[in-house]
Amino acid sequence: MSPPTSEERRDVLAGRLAAVRERLDAAARAAGRDPSDVALLTVTKFFPASDAVLLHELGCERFGESREQEASAKIAVFRESVDAPVEWHMIGRVQRNKARAVARWAHTVHSVDSLRLVQAFEKGARAALDTGERTGPLRALLQVSLDGDRERGGVVAEDLPALAEAVAASEVLELGGLMGVPPLGWEPERAFEQLHAMHARLLQDHPAAVELSAGMSGDLEHAVRWGSTCVRVGTAVLGYRPLA
Ligand SMILES: *Cc1c(COP(=O)(O)O)cnc(C)c1O
Repeated sequence: MSPPTSEERRDVLAGRLAAVRERLDAAARAAGRDPSDVALLTVTKFFPASDAVLLHELGCERFGESREQEASAKIAVFRESVDAPVEWHMIGRVQRNKARAVARWAHTVHSVDSLRLVQAFEKGARAALDTGERTGPLRALLQVSLDGDRERGGVVAEDLPALAEAVAASEVLELGGLMGVPPLGWEPERAFEQLHAMHARLLQDHPAAVELSAGMSGDLEHAVRWGSTCVRVGTAVLGYRPLA
């Protein structure tokens, strides 16, 4: 079989995207929420820039990536075809030595989980503002650990207030809200209910931190029920990723 043409690929992506949008609309309505309050972040990691270009033609304006080098290369190719402003979001773990590079291209980072990483992004965002690589603050979502396991990434509940303060105190970072991923083996309802409670507590001290990044291909309905404002969907739109 010959590889799919761009037309064939567009049809596949269009069909899957429509199905995901329908799921999102239905989930929002079932939760008594306005569907326009839940943003779709299409996760293009492992897929080529050409897919992002097709998805942009199909109305997607936000893309999620999880590795700095892959993202930088892809965005450069994407920009050869698309002039319009789109948002690129970093959703994967970031090593501190990559924060400067991420600050060049990221509208939002979903995976801020330590004070040292805040400092690295603070420096990186400041440098990117100085050179004109970015024009506005870097929006930071704090990734929380729902099971308290510090090894797997995410800030534990007791450390969350200090981390939020550190981001809020920065002139070049903007505290956007929280991000969470259900721990392996957990019921999504339990995970997202807990995440929602942590977000409610954060909002008491930081009323502008309204974003809640929660929900992926397999569990977005549960996340929307518990207040997600941004679902990160890869597989359901782009298909299965090749095994790394
Ligand atoms: C890859 C990834 C996603 C997308 O997951 P799918 O199950 O493919 O929708 C969402 N969030 C994070 C943090 C990811 O790394």
